Amino acid sequence: MTGGVSALRAGRRAGDVRLVAVSKSFPVEAMLEAYDAGQRDFGENRVQEALQKIARLSDKEIGWHLVGHLQSNKAKKAAARIGWIHAIDDVEVLRRVDEGAVAAGRTVDVLIQVDLALEPTKHGAPVERVPALIDAALPLSGARLVGVMLLPPLVNDPEDARPWFRRLRELRDDWARLDGVGGRLVQLSMGMSQDFEVAVEEGATMVRVGSAIFGERSA
Ligand SMILES: *Cc1c(COP(=O)(O)O)cnc(C)c1O
Repeated sequence: MTGGVSALRAGRRAGDVRLVAVSKSFPVEAMLEAYDAGQRDFGENRVQEALQKIARLSDKEIGWHLVGHLQSNKAKKAAARIGWIHAIDDVEVLRRVDEGAVAAGRTVDVLIQVDLALEPTKHGAPVERVPALIDAALPLSGARLVGVMLLPPLVNDPEDARPWFRRLRELRDDWARLDGVGGRLVQLSMGMSQDFEVAVEEGATMVRVGSAIFGERSA
């Protein structure tokens, strides 16, 4: 799909970038069309909708991603079924994801959502709180820290998102050198329909693309 094309343009192998098809608000029929075309990673932003779709597509080999904010009262349920949780921004939620994963006998790959622009309407951990979250994540066996995620401010020109993507990559590189982190911050989840090409050029390893695949959402 198009994510692969821009990876090539950025001089990297297409396999380095995981395309997460964000299917929120679209029916499973639309997901099956993408699945039949070879798409295997799907993203949802609400736990309830994700769990319903997981139940309906249980015979398919799908990597499920929760890309939206996770409330702590839904964390255990999410951890029992979902493979990747992109938007961890607090220690309490992280601990509950870990407990849910351990109780279900599985591991969940988690990413810390970083709030760079400090917009009042956005979730995410401010930069100064991220090292404490990383520390809290390192000893956990159910929730496995794999990277960081960004939802930058909305811009009209995708080029205006570039400084945010670059900043996240630089911060990630700093955090990756903290004691004990080792190779555990490999994933950079950034870039959506309108700006994923720029995100890939700035080092994204996962792009979360909805409308460019499924069309405009009505709600
Ligand atoms: C909806 C959503 C996306 C996909 O957005 P599009 O503009 O449709 O590509 C990506 N990430 C998150 C967190 C979302 O909520």
